[in-house]
Amino acid sequence: MSEQSANIGVVGLAVMGSNLARNLASREGNTVAVYNRSRSKTDDLVAEHPEAGFVPAFSYEQFAASLHKPRTAIVMVKAGGPTDAVIDALLEVFEPGDIIVDGGNALFTDTIRREKTVRETGVNFVGMGVSGGEEGALLGPSLMPGGSDESWVTLGPILRSIAAVAEGEPCVTHIGHDGAGHFVKMVHNGIEYADMQLIAEAYDLIRRGTGKSPAEIAEIFAEWNRGELESYLIEITAEVLRQTDAATGRPLVDVILDQAGAKGTGAWTVQTALSLGVPVSGIAEATFARSLSSHPEQRSVSRNLPGPVEALQVDDVDAFIEEVRLALYASKIVAYSQGFDEIRAGAAEYGWSIDLGAVSKIWRGGCIIRAQFLNRIAEAYDAAPDLPVLLTAPYFVEALGRAQDAWRRIVQTAAGAGIPAPAFSSSLSYYDGLRAERLPAALIQGQRDFFGAHTYRRVDREGTFHTLWSGDR
Ligand code: NAP
Repeated sequence: MSEQSANIGVVGLAVMGSNLARNLASREGNTVAVYNRSRSKTDDLVAEHPEAGFVPAFSYEQFAASLHKPRTAIVMVKAGGPTDAVIDALLEVFEPGDIIVDGGNALFTDTIRREKTVRETGVNFVGMGVSGGEEGALLGPSLMPGGSDESWVTLGPILRSIAAVAEGEPCVTHIGHDGAGHFVKMVHNGIEYADMQLIAEAYDLIRRGTGKSPAEIAEIFAEWNRGELESYLIEITAEVLRQTDAATGRPLVDVILDQAGAKGTGAWTVQTALSLGVPVSGIAEATFARSLSSHPEQRSVSRNLPGPVEALQVDDVDAFIEEVRLALYASKIVAYSQGFDEIRAGAAEYGWSIDLGAVSKIWRGGCIIRAQFLNRIAEAYDAAPDLPVLLTAPYFVEALGRAQDAWRRIVQTAAGAGIPAPAFSSSLSYYDGLRAERLPAALIQGQRDFFGAHTYRRVDREGTFHTLWSGDR
């Protein structure tokens, strides 16, 4: 074992850690120390990838001894207790100035807590969102590191070298202090939920409205992927719809059970938005739509509830498909606008200085929501960094103006035909809520004052008011 021969280390060599270690090792100038709790994963990785020149370690002491100072370790283990266990073990062997990076899917409040505790030892702690799955980890992920400015000096060049590249720029930026990186990764996943649900609603409407087969609809998505909707999720949707089941010869999408799973990051995004008071209705509907799908017992007893008798029958198929595309685009603008609103609110609450334009740029490559569209968001924030509502940027106003008639017709059509389109319709309601000159919130204030003397403010005078309602006793 050569002492201090590695400039970076990875702890946790399951699929993500081993791929990230290989990515690091493939970049010039890096020598990578690797450690895993159970020895077999380390032995296998080193044996299968002699070209990587890994420096294997079989104890935390050996791992620390194999790293130059400041020692830098990226931890890629199961989120939660395992992450705490690894941090505690590294703190035993690391010294002030060293850097521990948690690349797992941690909840940002855990990262804030960990950063505070670790900082007291003089070691730097960086919570880093990693997006792109196992392929991204190997070939170039989108990276969202938080942590101190000091750790970014060491980490920046290493992370820039392994991140995905979009339009010549590495998909990594120092997001902000302590939990900022994991917060932004959480919202990324929330937006991903909304994007996927919107695509699924578009598919469902086209299928039920036109009777086209999944393979035919795949061609529509492939076509959309050549326009303003171009994105990884639209691209893979075409691939999924094209797939035939080898066992039955049927479209694969028809033999997959219609119950969507979730690992919890959508729920975190919504829970956090609720505490921050940010209306992320598109992300919430997408998360709830997965929950609804996953209750077969409720769905089976509800199957005979009354609904429209006539199936949706579309006359002008091409016009309908174009209207669905526009509804999808408009709803997508709303979902992203809401997600960025949550990041803005999170930054204000937790004291982070987050460059929203830079966030949209690092999502252009490596991650699941990568899309052309993110360039438009970057342009909007470049032009107006303090923009209070993303969808009011000129480009989006124009796009929404172009789409809104179609969007309304599609939501009406879905409701009229009894086809669930929760993300399409909630996005439209949010849009109309923002546009409204007066909201019925005034009535809610009246009700609150009536039953709880909560007071209200007036449109014509400063101050707070309470009415002596005739119902007062
Ligand atoms: P994983 O299945 O989440 O975790 C397995 C790894 O954790 C193994 O190396 C395991 O070591 C280690 N581990 C578990 N408990 C431990 C403990 N108490 N002490 C030390 N090590 C422990 O692996 P993964 O799918 O590669 O994901 C790693 C992290 O990246 C997770 O936090 C995950 O949420 C995050 N992430 C995953 C993806 C993805 O697409 N999969 C994307 C982004 C981020 P042993 O081999 O000894 O059991």
